[in-house]
Amino acid sequence: MEVRPGIHQVPGLRWSNAYLLVEDQGLTLIDAGIPGDGKKVLSYIQHIGRDAQELSRVVLTHSHPDHTGPIRELSRLTGAVISVHPGDTRLRAKTNGRWLHYPWQPPAWDWDVPLLRRIPAHQLLEDGQELPVLGGLQVLHTPGHTPGSVCLFLPKHSVLFTGDMLLADGRRFRRPVYFPGTNLGDYRASVERLAGLTFDTACVGHGKPLLEGSAARLQEMLDHYAWMSPRWTEVKRWARLILRH
Ligand SMILES: [Zn+2]
Ligand SMILES: [Zn+2]
Repeated sequence: MEVRPGIHQVPGLRWSNAYLLVEDQGLTLIDAGIPGDGKKVLSYIQHIGRDAQELSRVVLTHSHPDHTGPIRELSRLTGAVISVHPGDTRLRAKTNGRWLHYPWQPPAWDWDVPLLRRIPAHQLLEDGQELPVLGGLQVLHTPGHTPGSVCLFLPKHSVLFTGDMLLADGRRFRRPVYFPGTNLGDYRASVERLAGLTFDTACVGHGKPLLEGSAARLQEMLDHYAWMSPRWTEVKRWARLILRH
């Protein structure tokens, strides 16, 4: 499903969203769904007439397992580099390698067990970095949902990939989701930073992308937003969004 020219949403993912950026010189995946979704990513690559070996990079908006499920296999199979902000990784002194990590994560092992295995971080992202994808994919470090959450911005295409920092139902943004490890102060500062951007399309981590007028929709949400709402209300909103999806 092409959201914008060259920007595809991988179809058939039920829990979270993954986006494939397609250009002649290669393919970039932003997030990858839950464990088991790798097959859907690969069959979509085939469906658009491209080869799995062309997947050169997987960029993660954050390290939660509902966005990183199949990337270890995908990376092994295609050679794709796994890129993530260091705030969502942990340094393993023994090997001096970095592994994906998020707050309250259960212990991770070298065993090949979904949700409990170590996933390597090959390339670390930093705020302000520009990746050579579709004319320049900018990295914005937007902590809050997790310490290493990033949003990815394609200014030339007017598209923002929000991960779980902002969710939407196709018509408007949903309020941010609180999670173990969420820092409300950081979250607020990050969302306000996003509100300063000019963008038309928001490719969100859950729910349906907002195709047009996204910056104005975000401002609308912020104008009516009460930052200190009870946690259980957030849980209900989160559940409703996912069930509808
Ligand atoms: Zn998340
Ligand atoms: Zn998520």
